[in-house]
Amino acid sequence: MSDAYDFSERIGRVEPSATLAISNLAAEKEAEGADIVDLSVGEPDFDTPENIVEAGKDALDAGHTGYTSSNGIPELKEAIAAKLRGTGVDADADEVIVTPGGKQALYETFQTLIGEGDEVVLLDPAWVSYEAMAKLAGADLSRVDLSPHGFQLEPALDDLAETVSDDTELLVVNSPSNPTGAVFSETALEGVRDLAVEHDVAVISDEIYERIVYDAEHVSLASLDGMADRTVTINGFSKAFSMTGWRLGYLHATEEFVGQAGKLHSHSVSCAVNFVQHAGVEALENTDESVEEMRRAFADRRDLLVDLFDEHGIDVDVGDGAFYMMIPVDDDDQAWCEAAIEEASVACVPGSAFNAPGHARISYAASEERLREAVDRLVSNDLL
Ligand code: PMP
Ligand code: GLU
Repeated sequence: MSDAYDFSERIGRVEPSATLAISNLAAEKEAEGADIVDLSVGEPDFDTPENIVEAGKDALDAGHTGYTSSNGIPELKEAIAAKLRGTGVDADADEVIVTPGGKQALYETFQTLIGEGDEVVLLDPAWVSYEAMAKLAGADLSRVDLSPHGFQLEPALDDLAETVSDDTELLVVNSPSNPTGAVFSETALEGVRDLAVEHDVAVISDEIYERIVYDAEHVSLASLDGMADRTVTINGFSKAFSMTGWRLGYLHATEEFVGQAGKLHSHSVSCAVNFVQHAGVEALENTDESVEEMRRAFADRRDLLVDLFDEHGIDVDVGDGAFYMMIPVDDDDQAWCEAAIEEASVACVPGSAFNAPGHARISYAASEERLREAVDRLVSNDLL
């Protein structure tokens, strides 16, 4: 073996995505013939709505197969700006970068704002890739734990006020939340705004689950007074439109921010896939009914799980959005998840991946039948 690959110190700071690693393991076991109930990865189990698929095919037939302008096709940037204006964000097409997935939008944001030693504040439990992206950019992480507050932000605002300071560069907010499903109240978001303004901090508002809310209302952080020129709003098509494999997302921020992040975008991905961007226009403009059907199905599944856990005396902090639930398990949640997949053939993600040990994340993007099966298996293997 040669020593030719001298791996960077930077790449050594991170591990592979835990969510994707477990779903890969579940897929491997299934390929070997095992019947795994896979509640690991956050991926809607619905087909992409037909009108979006047709729009993609039409775009291919029409020859939309070349590069597009780096930040995206004008029709999609305009549709995104119009969508943002609908949630009270004063948006313009020139303030948007269309990316291959929301993940790329987040990656570009961290790289654009964060340098070595800059402080990034995360709200725990936090989605696994925020920490990885922050570390790749060189960040020092500070964390505020929402677990003692039923995963809600409003009761944790005092803790947040103790953590955010003039030294803070960036705060990451994700509502509805992956992995808890919590939807933060408007009062909580106003609390974020007050701290961000007081300490002149930038905020990522990852709103990728905004269309999947139940008994709560989603508020776009950038719509609050004082937030327009310090928020980077992240969104994507994977969850609301069941388009995970199409890889389409975007960021919205000031034109100045877009100018800076656009450099990285143009030197890395060049642009999002051309015909996929055309399908994205259709998704934003003509898919409300399908989105609503999926939202209702997720709501029913959440309610079913709550009832099933209740029957077994398990107390869960239930969120009002996304399609995740954090359930309390053994202190060693890694070992619990290993037993869940090896003994009960149920795949879940250890809470430690989200800095919430003692929990496992369940993604209820699965049929009611499979959710019942999962709970039965966990109970009959004495895991619940
Ligand atoms: N943000 C959150 C909170 C997520 O759960 C995901 C899921 N992968 C993403 C961003 C990125 O999704 P995608 O890259 O598929 O748009
Ligand atoms: N965001 C989803 C999850 O958390 C998809 C996998 C990933 O990108 O992490 O499971």
